[in-house]
Amino acid sequence: MLPDFRVRQRDYLLEIARAMTSQLNLDAVLRLILQSAASMLGGEVGLIALVDDDSKFRARATIGVDAAHLHLFAPLLDNLDDKSNHDQHNHNHGGLDFEALDLKMRVVARALDIRLRQVIALPLIIREENVGVIFVFRTYRAEPNPNDTAVLQSFADQAAVAVFNARLYQSVSAEQMRLAAILDHSGDGIMILDGSGHIQRFNKALGRIVGCSPTEVIGNLHDDVIMWDHIEMGTALDAALASGWPQQTAVDAPPDTIYVEGDLTRCDGTTISVGITYAPLLSGSGKLSNVIGSVRDITNFRKAQEMKSTFISVVSHELKTPVALIKGYAGTLRREDANWDKATIRNSLKVIEEEADRLTELIENLLAASKLQAEGMRINIGDVRLDLLAARSVERFQVQTPIHQLNLDFPPNFPSVQGDQTRLRQVLDNLINNAIKYSPAGGEIRISGAFDDHSVTVAVSDPGVGISEEQLEHIFERFYRVDDALSRKTQGTGLGLYLARAVIDAHHGTIEVDSQVGKGSTFRFTIPISQP
Ligand code: ADP
Repeated sequence: MLPDFRVRQRDYLLEIARAMTSQLNLDAVLRLILQSAASMLGGEVGLIALVDDDSKFRARATIGVDAAHLHLFAPLLDNLDDKSNHDQHNHNHGGLDFEALDLKMRVVARALDIRLRQVIALPLIIREENVGVIFVFRTYRAEPNPNDTAVLQSFADQAAVAVFNARLYQSVSAEQMRLAAILDHSGDGIMILDGSGHIQRFNKALGRIVGCSPTEVIGNLHDDVIMWDHIEMGTALDAALASGWPQQTAVDAPPDTIYVEGDLTRCDGTTISVGITYAPLLSGSGKLSNVIGSVRDITNFRKAQEMKSTFISVVSHELKTPVALIKGYAGTLRREDANWDKATIRNSLKVIEEEADRLTELIENLLAASKLQAEGMRINIGDVRLDLLAARSVERFQVQTPIHQLNLDFPPNFPSVQGDQTRLRQVLDNLINNAIKYSPAGGEIRISGAFDDHSVTVAVSDPGVGISEEQLEHIFERFYRVDDALSRKTQGTGLGLYLARAVIDAHHGTIEVDSQVGKGSTFRFTIPISQP
């Protein structure tokens, strides 16, 4: 049979163990430990002090003394881990010098007006580090009993474990907070899935990409949230999992990630281009415990790629046509078996000249567009008579088209403006050229001017095919061409309006368009009379 105090000690330790596993907070567990230890040792006053961040001991649990008197124990807590002073003493215990403590205790006892007679103290050690100390004070002095320290040791061990757990818990939750902050502030979308594909974490950036709030999707299956409209490259997660992903290639090598790219259907039904990298986390036994998905919005990247391929197809198409014509006519003229009359030669040379001009214009436009991208539009300011420029353009274009009637409508006192003559002529030419190109049935093209005290406006109206509402917002973009039968037949690079807008912007003006499909369009630009 166990002696009575052993039974009590066991019961206390059991109770403490239960309290620790029921996740009571650290202070409550320390108080319980202290109460049990004091009761076992017949102590009336007790204290557990822990080492704080600043390496000082501070009381965390007390019995038999109220908070107001706690400061009186300060001398006991000073120099507690000053090893130099206790190594020479015989009664030092676990690094504590009982004689010195006894002296200090007497001072405390006097100040408290309690007859404390004996102190039993033990350090709390975790992995050889002193994290605190437990004191039990008795109001009587018993014979020095080796059992006392043995009993206290069992409670000190419990307290050390409780402190260790609390610290572990603290560092885990600090780690979790750090992880949450990284997730929340990441510019890329990040999600964490459990082993069965349910979403555990879904950061704000991903919410924005997919267009739904993280709280809506947490707990849902990945495949119900990440829905591909079409996949451009790689394998979707479900297909990859079905084919045995992830596979560990070597024992210590991390398992392969997978990458999938394409258009996702967002929560509001629209689509967005994304690339997702999935990385698996495996448990110790090699089972899939989590999948981490990092999602990047690649809309701009895709747009740039599309633009590059449009550029290549536009340029090659636009270059091919005039080059083919020039080569054809030159080859025909050069035939030695034919005697061409003067008119044929003149006509052929005219075509060659026109096509060479077209090539020059195309190359100039391309150069202007790339220069514009690199360094912005630069203009040389001078006095410009837009009415006279318009008249000259009309003369030039009218001879090229018998089916269109080009009419000028400028008031007689139309003012001259400050601007870049060459660039403004390009804008006018481009608008008139477009008016002709996109009015294949012919008709009247009106170039009119208006002005007020500060600005002039020039408008070019045509009775042509018009532009639909959706296309209107794109026609000023680089390389944008309306994709219809007429555009495919007519030459163009989709650069004219892009450059026109850049020129007008550089003049601090505005350019706009009114259009009705099937009825015609009016392009209108306004620039200030004098430049700031
Ligand atoms: P392009 O070289 O194709 O003419 P622009 O930048 O000048 O390039 O024009 C862009 C697109 O806007 C054209 O492809 C055409 O579809 C449309 N567009 C421009 N002007 C007109 C117009 N007057 N009437 C109808 N559509 C037009």
